[in-house]
Amino acid sequence: MKISCVCGAIIVDQTDYLANKGHIVADEDWEDFAESIRSRGEIDQSFVRHCYQCTSCGRLYVDDHDRRLLTFLPETTVPQPALRSIKGALWKAPLIGRWTPAPLAGESKGSLYCKGGDGVVEQYDTWEALEQAYFALFFRLKGLGLLRSALLHNGGKQVHVWADTDH
Ligand SMILES: [Zn+2]
Repeated sequence: MKISCVCGAIIVDQTDYLANKGHIVADEDWEDFAESIRSRGEIDQSFVRHCYQCTSCGRLYVDDHDRRLLTFLPETTVPQPALRSIKGALWKAPLIGRWTPAPLAGESKGSLYCKGGDGVVEQYDTWEALEQAYFALFFRLKGLGLLRSALLHNGGKQVHVWADTDH
């Protein structure tokens, strides 16, 4: 989904682990929500609403109880991230490397993506360069304890898969 912010920016919700998205449960629902997890062993999404922050102007967009999007304007002119992980800079990120033999027009065959550490979004023209950059980043971020998972794809084939066991 996409939200067109009042400031002109677009808030996009098409991937997991967004740094500007949150999940809200009303305090009036909290006990029922917690009980649903205890008894069913899973999250009852009917209690969960979403909120988003525009990274450009800092506005907050919050689903109300009818799932209508309400808008809140911050008091500060410099956007302050309101919805980042409680772990802050120590948040463990997924690392994804993907080699696409026939990419869409304008896109590179190789892409490397990770939000951990300083964040990486890179394009590669050869498989060798992508593979080398992937493993260099994998071992660096894993050593720093900043990875939750890693996945390297070549075409439809998984070349490397790793998952942290204690996050
Ligand atoms: Zn905005």
